[in-house]
Amino acid sequence: MVEYSPPVALPETSASAWVRVVLDVPIPGPFDYRCTFPVTSGMRVIVPFGRRKLIGMVVGLPDEPAYDPKLIKNVEAVLADIEPMPEHWLRFAQFAAEYYQRPLGEVVLPALPLPLRSVSSYQGKRSGDGPVARLDLKRAPVIKAVSASEVPVLNEAQQGAVDAIVCAESFKAFLLYGVTGSGKTEVYLHAAAQALERGKRVLMLVPEINLTPQFEQSLRARLEPVAGVGGVAVLHSGLSDGERLRAWLRVQRGQARIVLGTRLAIFAPMHDVGLIVVDEEHDPSYKQQDGLRYSARDLAIWRAHDLGVPVVLGSATPSLESWVHAERGHYQRLDLPARARAVTLPSVRLVDTRRLKMDHGMSPQLLNAMRARLDNKEQVLVFLNRRGYAPALHCASCGWVSQCPRCTTFTVLHRTTPGRHQLHCHHCGYQQRVPSACPDCGDQDLQPMGRGTQRIEEHLAELFPEARIARIDADSTRKKGSAQALFASVHAGEVDILVGTQMVAKGHDFANLGLVGVLNADAMLFSQDFRAPERLFAQLMQVSGRAGRHTGHGEVIVQTGYPEQPVYQALLRHDYAGFARHSMQERESAALPPFSHQALLSAEARDLNVALDFLQSARASALEWMTQQQSTEMITLYDPVPLRIVRVDNMCRAQLLLESTHRPALQSLLRNWLPELNDLPEARKVRWQLEVDPLEI
Ligand SMILES: [Zn+2]
Ligand SMILES: [Zn+2]
Repeated sequence: MVEYSPPVALPETSASAWVRVVLDVPIPGPFDYRCTFPVTSGMRVIVPFGRRKLIGMVVGLPDEPAYDPKLIKNVEAVLADIEPMPEHWLRFAQFAAEYYQRPLGEVVLPALPLPLRSVSSYQGKRSGDGPVARLDLKRAPVIKAVSASEVPVLNEAQQGAVDAIVCAESFKAFLLYGVTGSGKTEVYLHAAAQALERGKRVLMLVPEINLTPQFEQSLRARLEPVAGVGGVAVLHSGLSDGERLRAWLRVQRGQARIVLGTRLAIFAPMHDVGLIVVDEEHDPSYKQQDGLRYSARDLAIWRAHDLGVPVVLGSATPSLESWVHAERGHYQRLDLPARARAVTLPSVRLVDTRRLKMDHGMSPQLLNAMRARLDNKEQVLVFLNRRGYAPALHCASCGWVSQCPRCTTFTVLHRTTPGRHQLHCHHCGYQQRVPSACPDCGDQDLQPMGRGTQRIEEHLAELFPEARIARIDADSTRKKGSAQALFASVHAGEVDILVGTQMVAKGHDFANLGLVGVLNADAMLFSQDFRAPERLFAQLMQVSGRAGRHTGHGEVIVQTGYPEQPVYQALLRHDYAGFARHSMQERESAALPPFSHQALLSAEARDLNVALDFLQSARASALEWMTQQQSTEMITLYDPVPLRIVRVDNMCRAQLLLESTHRPALQSLLRNWLPELNDLPEARKVRWQLEVDPLEI
């Protein structure tokens, strides 16, 4: 079956017009071309670029070209197989490019599905009307209807939240604050259904889809009766190019009325948006970590504002950024105080490990509690955010520790098959056989140092020989579909003890889970990153929320050597607000975000000094500009420093932090300073990049 898109009606334009085109190339554009075919902004064209042919997007039709017409080449083809990208979408891309200081082409083109931006898709596909090429879409998907599900009755707080959202007739940001199980999803679904009934469309962002296919199913079951079969499109990075293209086209043609997606879905080409939802808004996965380093949560706010529609940020542990906005009245806070099923929150117990005799990192208290739950036919989750068998291998006689030859980190011991181990570097992918003797002293007694999920799993199997144990982490779920299969067996009651990393914390509703044990939480507490406690608290709240969601007598045991730390004390009381108050005071007194704004220039080179020299020159150049502008008071330039893990894959890394309480001053510096950086003599010897609003420092 071949599906052709309807031909696009082209406007009349005079021949030999100039077009301004953006391309996904590292040189900042835009680039001008001559175009003898009818074309408008938002259309894609095939153009020559150097020796290559590339697909670019037309962003303007200038009266005069920006450079000598003799140097200007011709557009080879206009791609008219989809409607031009709408003006509001181009405006949104333009904002993202300016805010994150990247060329527009690096925003616009990667936002399209791969076949729509690869010249190879169009080779040999010119149709009869000359320059217009079309893409064939074979195997159009058959979308099966899911059976409609019952609509639960909302409690008073949920109803109040829905009312507030649907009453907003223009832009308004809401922070939907409610603990796990308080029924935030019902609020989204009701508000979404009402937007659909008004003929509007809904964009719903979630941190992760692959792990929670139930969410997609329940969304479709609830909203397809309103949106129509096929009215829900799912966009995430786990789709194949073909799947993503088909979903994207359904959105672009207006067939899909709800988009459910991960961060990349913020660039979905939607029309008539009536509501944007960002679930688990604090989740770090909303931040893209390479290329255009955008925050989908922050862009959602801008897009909602630009479109004049409400946006709902939901979380049990909001980011301090969003919390401060709510405290200052920029966002309206909507509280969902109680768990929707009216069961009590799990009780939290801190086990002080300082004077305890531990068994493979597990306290007697935890093991006893596990035994009791297993006897009672309940499931137990052991949470350890460290995959592999052990963080390193070491020699007790001379102190040798397994080290990656390419990075300044330890190689992690992994069990590859039962009884066989390998050393893996989690930073560069280096793999190595386990040496039979210490490379330094020849001693044959090499021991694992510390423990990861595999080792805990192995030891639990010895301690609880009757229990069925499953492990969910990045290693056990590498094969496509294996994560779903593992989660399904937990849901089906075929697992008694689940050992897992943060992968298990997200969104899963385990009906029979009575106890959560948290091992080695302190590892995150003493990270140099000022956001570490915030992230730890969010993670502990999230994983705690897995316990007793249905039984009502769930328990969480957190093992720590620092029970007096505010993050653990707040966790004991399920007191996010108290934790936020404490953290905000700390941040405010140190003038850290959200009380200031940051940008991070990082550089890498084979030699650390080369990277540091580049940053030093960059710093001097920024200082010079600031002196000219008399803005030295407004922006703090820190000294360039090496990263904690300085060498990764044989490249040495360093960074320069910029900070200001005045965002426009910082943006103005970045705008003027970045174009200069490539002209610095040191720039040729390094790879550098800039991140605006970095999440990790
Ligand atoms: Zn040794
Ligand atoms: Zn490495």
